Order: sequence, then C-alpha cells, then structure tokens
Amino acid sequence: MKNNFILTLKEQLSNRKEIVIIPHKNPDGDALGSCLGLKHFFDLMGHSCSVISPNEYPEFLEWIPGQEQIIKYNKSEEESEKLLLEADLIFTLDFNSLSRIKPMDEVIDNCRAIKVMIDHHEQPDDYADLMYSDPSLGSTCEMVYNLIEALDVSLINKTIATCIYTGIMTDSGSFRFKSTTGVTHSIVSNLLDMGINHTQIHINIYDTYSFGRLQLLGKALTNLVKVEPLNAVYITLSQKELTQFDFKKGDTEGFVNYGLSLDGIKFAVILIENTQEKIIKMSFRSKGEFNVNQFARKHFNGGGHHNAAGGVSYENLEMTTQKVHETILQYKDQLK
Ligand code: 5GP
Ligand code: MN
Repeated sequence: MKNNFILTLKEQLSNRKEIVIIPHKNPDGDALGSCLGLKHFFDLMGHSCSVISPNEYPEFLEWIPGQEQIIKYNKSEEESEKLLLEADLIFTLDFNSLSRIKPMDEVIDNCRAIKVMIDHHEQPDDYADLMYSDPSLGSTCEMVYNLIEALDVSLINKTIATCIYTGIMTDSGSFRFKSTTGVTHSIVSNLLDMGINHTQIHINIYDTYSFGRLQLLGKALTNLVKVEPLNAVYITLSQKELTQFDFKKGDTEGFVNYGLSLDGIKFAVILIENTQEKIIKMSFRSKGEFNVNQFARKHFNGGGHHNAAGGVSYENLEMTTQKVHETILQYKDQLK
C-alpha cells in the first residue's frame, strides 16, 4: 500500500462521508467478504455506507454478515443511481476494469465521487483516482485487512473478521494457493483470535450442495474431455443440461478444479452455456507456469490471475468448444 494512498484516504475519511462500495458482477466470496468487511468498518467509523452489487450472488453466500443490506443494481436501479450520484467516495473492490460491473459502469462515469480501487488482479485499468492494486496478494480481503490495520485496527470485531476470513479462505483455495504466505496466516491468526467460527464458515460455503447440484457435478465430470496429447482438459455444460439438474446461480462454482485434480494435468477449462445472456462463460485454471490470465485476455475477452482467470464467448457452445480445443493445441510446447 503506497504512503500517498493511505494519507489521502485518511484525510478523506476524517469527516463523515457518503460511501458506496461495489463488488464485481456475479460476486464471489472474496468480493462480498471484502465489501461487507469494509462496510462494517466504515459504519463503525461513523460514515454512511452502502454496498451495491451489479446483480445477485449464490445462496452459499447468503449468510455473510450484512449481506441482507446489499442493494442489487439490476433490481433497484433508481435507488442505486441516487446513492452513486450522491456519494463522496466510491470503492470498487475485487475487480480492476469497469467492464466487470456492466451496465453499472455507465453510471460510474457520471459520478462526482472520488473513485478508489482495491484489487489483486493483474493489469489494472486506469479509472480510479486512488489505487491500491497488488497482484501478489491472494485476496482483496487480505488487502481490506491491511487497509483497516493502517486506518484503525482497534475497530476490527468478530463481524468484520468473519467477512474477511471468508474471502481469504475462498480465494486461497482454503490456504493452498501459491499466494498464501506467512503474512496471510498471521492475518488469519488475528482473525481467529476475534472468535470467528471458521468451521461453520467452511461448511456454509462448501457443504451446502443441493441434490441437483451434486448430480450436475456428476454430469460435468462425465463431459470432461482431454485434449490429446496435451496435459489439458475441458468440461462443457449446455443450458439443457443445466436446466435438467435445476441449475441455480453458483452451482458450477469449483467444478473446473476437478480437471486439475487429474494426475499431470496443467490446464483446465469449463465452458458454461447461458442462453438468456447469449454467452458462453468460461473459467480457466492452471497449475504452475501456464499463464491463464494471458490466455483469457488473448483469446476469450477475459482476464484474472496467473493460475485462475475467466472469460466469455459470444459464439455458440459448439463453436466455442472447438475454438477452445484448437487454441489449446497452439500451446503444445507449454502443455505437454
Ligand atoms: P472464475 O473463473 O472463478 O469466475 O474467476 C476466476 C478469476 O478470474 C477471478 O479472479 C475473477 O475475478 C476473474 N474473472 C472471471 N471472469 C472474468 C472476466 O470475464 N474478465 C476478467 N477480466 N476477469 C474475470
Ligand atoms: Mn478476489
């Protein structure tokens, strides 16, 4: 965190401010945990703070403290726009390109507020007045902890700790990814000392599958294809298959990782058809050197991190699958 960033923020927060915090579209545990952790902190500082999500999020996140107060832009456009236009400060958390909050990005352009980016994805865009961007860190929640520590660590309580722990846990793959450091664990140690129920947090996120979701996982695994002779696999799920298993938002979360659990596999992709939005949403995961952020940016309108990224295709499932297969074959040197 740069000195200038924290000094300017301290000055801005020295009197009561109207604040809006925004996560990316289809927010995950890190996006919601960081937004809500920061919201509780600003509330305790005496500011007036709202969280506006571009859209809904999965049921397995519908327990994070304060989530019931989140305003959904796609459901409450007028209320959201009023708050955004009146805000003094707008914090954008866990994304670094305004394309990730479409169609809310158009409103942001017209706001007088100071825009603050807190994010850990690679290659940030240049829309924010104040930036705390650090791709070496495993989660935006870890960054929110650092910010709170720099502002007033005495205000951290069990509620804030629960929000922050959630995002650190989900974005680190339960503390196993490379970006998990001794510092991450020492932050987690402080959070545990606040009395959070980490066992229950894990259960809430990972052990709340519906019957349909587990069967959909079975279908996804049946659909897995290996791109011979390379160490790469992909999974497809058509809209018909999703509907057959009563798909709900978030049900496919984590499915792509099963591809990487195969011995020797370095790259795994999942392609998910969404006929309503007329898109194929993709997730890319890798182990080791293969850079999926670059792969997603170059070929599939996306981005993310070195080992975890996402992207989108506007062609149909069949054509997108073929393109994925052919594109992977171009990387034979890196994926053999
Ligand atoms: P997931 O595959 O779990 O949706 O996302 C993996 C990572 O890539 C996350 O950090 C997520 O924020 C990022 N990501 C997912 N989809 C997109 C996308 O369409 N564009 C960009 N730039 N990043 C994405
Ligand atoms: Mn994140």
